[in-house]
Amino acid sequence: MSSTLLKNFIHGRYVDNADKSGFDVLSPATGEVIYAVETADEALLEQTVQSAQQGFITWSGTPAIERARILQRAANLLRERNDELARIEVLDTGKPWQEAAVVDVQTGADAIEYFANLCPSMMGEQQSVGDDFFYTRHEPLGVCFGIGAWNYPLQIACWKAAVALAAGNSMIFKPSEETPRGAALLAEIFIEAGVPEGVFNVVQGDGKVGQYLVQHAAIAKVSLTGEVGTGKKVMAAAAGTLKKVTMELGGKSPLIVFDDADIDEAVTGAMLGNFYTQGEVCTNGTRVFVHESCYDTFMARLIKRTKDNVIVGNPLDPKTNLGALISHKHLQKVLSYIQIGIDEGATLAFGGQQLKPEGCENGNFVSPTIFTNCTDDMRITREEIFGPVMSVLKFSSEDEVIKRANNTDFGLAAGIFCQDIRRAHRVIAQLQAGICWINAYGNSPVEMPVGGYKQSGIGRENGVEAFKSYTQTKSIYVGMNKLEGPF
Ligand code: NAD
Repeated sequence: MSSTLLKNFIHGRYVDNADKSGFDVLSPATGEVIYAVETADEALLEQTVQSAQQGFITWSGTPAIERARILQRAANLLRERNDELARIEVLDTGKPWQEAAVVDVQTGADAIEYFANLCPSMMGEQQSVGDDFFYTRHEPLGVCFGIGAWNYPLQIACWKAAVALAAGNSMIFKPSEETPRGAALLAEIFIEAGVPEGVFNVVQGDGKVGQYLVQHAAIAKVSLTGEVGTGKKVMAAAAGTLKKVTMELGGKSPLIVFDDADIDEAVTGAMLGNFYTQGEVCTNGTRVFVHESCYDTFMARLIKRTKDNVIVGNPLDPKTNLGALISHKHLQKVLSYIQIGIDEGATLAFGGQQLKPEGCENGNFVSPTIFTNCTDDMRITREEIFGPVMSVLKFSSEDEVIKRANNTDFGLAAGIFCQDIRRAHRVIAQLQAGICWINAYGNSPVEMPVGGYKQSGIGRENGVEAFKSYTQTKSIYVGMNKLEGPF
């Protein structure tokens, strides 16, 4: 791959677009242009659809055990190249090296390995009905279209490709225009592992490129990771041809600290759920509800640990644990939310400023930020900020906090910290969220299905459930006796 010009990856190779139109990708950490990208024009988009249709014929006819063997090779290649790929993720996203080196590539490889291992065992069923019987086949859907967000570019591409390909589909993937490299590198790795040409193509561009393919009649399914607003547009466009959809969207998740919680652990959870990947994580627990009786202890420890332990700096420095926000525009959005919080009357208990770490003075850095005295109706407690901005709220009873936690149109995730196991399970059962943690926050092993309630999503990624959503069931009835009828 050229280090300065990234092209579209179609049918096993990088191809030129006719008009050379494209865009630049800027470093979140320095603001400099790091490479240029060619946009997929209409001719290339049609070429990629044809290629994926051919790829589908070959791949869906490949025995599952052989697909599994090839995908396992891809997972191994990802692991072998961990450091090289993690470095690219750090350069493209601005996230800290210490995270990317152990999470982004590994969790992508885990998904490919998991679905590779699963696919040969996904059998149909057979059932007798008198002398007759029927059986079912779980068949792939066809050409699927994956659309990625910018916070976990390689991991998102791996999660979508793993399940789609394991089930026998081909996939066209469009990464976010902010972070186009991870998916292209995955496409190279698939080819090297032996995935046939056309089974995984990568097209580059913004929402317009996405929209073209979402509306395309040859696409069977769309899987989007992105904002709620984008999800609504994509679903509406997909409705024109009644495509299947999986939507992994945004959130404003509650994290509840009960009076019997281990306070240090709860502080760890709150910091992970607000400052990991500089707050750019969809499942973040940005509404931290703390019981009034442990509130002062919790706050004192939270502020001390944020002050002492959060290191904002060059994302490539192994000591940095809070990196740069994705873009200047996003930095401005996060800073404007901090101002909104102040104007709404919340107390800025920590941070709130733009930072200019040495050597990264033009990067998009903001300090970890904690607001207290928040109320449920403030914009900072209702809207997704997608930066390291935590809102702390006080509560006094279990029923009250459940009601307040659920008072949102989002429903992606929720977490609770408490020692009473009956309360833990009782409360979790009442929270309207698709991904819940008890005395943990943010873990997402590939075996566990993830996705949102309410406006945070439709369908699930990962786990066996996701596999089924990339297949369609065919029922075949077999008559064993001479057929008779009234005519
Ligand atoms: P975004 O919605 O702006 O963009 C996501 C993708 O959709 C991009 O590739 C973009 O080019 C594409 N797109 C935009 N308009 C489109 C259209 N009309 N048709 C087709 N494609 C279109 O989101 P983002 O800013 O890249 O990512 C941040 C958002 O993603 C946050 O809301 C975050 O919560 C969410 N997210 C969710 C999950 C999850 O698993 N639930 C994971 C990561 C991020």
